[in-house]
Amino acid sequence: MLTVFGSVALDTIRTPSRIIKNVLGGAATFAAISASFFTKPSLIAVVGHDFPRKYQNVLNSFVDATGIVHAKGKTFRYDGSYDNTLSFRTTNKTELNVLRDFKPIVPEKYRKSEFVYLANNDPSQNARIIKEFDKVKFSMCDTIDFWISTKRNDVIKMMGVVDSVVINDEEAKMLTKTHNLIKAARKIMEWGTKYVIIKKGEHGSLLFYDDIVFPSPAFSLENIVDPTGAGDSFAGGMIGYLASKNSTKLSTIKEAAVYGNVMGSFAVERYGIHGLVGLKKSHIQKRFKRYRQMVHF
Ligand code: AMP
Repeated sequence: MLTVFGSVALDTIRTPSRIIKNVLGGAATFAAISASFFTKPSLIAVVGHDFPRKYQNVLNSFVDATGIVHAKGKTFRYDGSYDNTLSFRTTNKTELNVLRDFKPIVPEKYRKSEFVYLANNDPSQNARIIKEFDKVKFSMCDTIDFWISTKRNDVIKMMGVVDSVVINDEEAKMLTKTHNLIKAARKIMEWGTKYVIIKKGEHGSLLFYDDIVFPSPAFSLENIVDPTGAGDSFAGGMIGYLASKNSTKLSTIKEAAVYGNVMGSFAVERYGIHGLVGLKKSHIQKRFKRYRQMVHF
């Protein structure tokens, strides 16, 4: 069983070709929908009174939504703009709203989850909630520049209580105050986690474990429209695959990283969650096969 905890958001995304306002987003949304192609995830999150019914219905169709709390106040909102290359994103606004003082509770039926993904969210909430699960076999967390700049010590503490950290290259450098990704990964492992997966956007990912480095390229694409949620889709695909195999063997973790790259590639092909929601398992398998052929020599 897999539980995902993190932000469910109303996103405003500004790309050079289109602006989409107040659409369903959030790290946990992308991660849980992505994971749902491998196993049915349970979601814990908070939304406000303004959260549209149609978005609740989308979530209901992909996840067990018992853990979504409807609180008084506004839903978490994120506003970001991409540059012309779609490689750099500037955060215009982060409104925590109901996320600020959320006291998450793990529903009784989720407590036995063996796989737990702590998506982008307040790191102290993340560190607290992981203790509420009874028999975690594999946990993973992510973070974002906002939390590194406002709660760095809590981010470091959170990374000490999970089995793996998935983080993008720029944030890994910012967090560890180094420019080298190997040094950054080592430093994160010193804080207590066993695996570090550094996401490098269009350049794929690096998986670190002990002295092992497993690089996997991104699935090459010609047309990218919106990179939002690619990292979360990567992580959701990765942990969803692990949960479906009920395995934490290194060889399975490597395969999971490849599924992460495959899921990230679908996310960027359409705006918002639309790269994921129309997918079929057969599309994923086809792309995984092509990926295998691509990297074989
Ligand atoms: P990604 O593109 O994978 O880095 O993730 C983008 C998603 O993360 C968006 O859908 C946002 O709603 C969400 N997000 C952005 N900032 C934060 C934050 N400070 N805490 C939690 N989630 C966030």
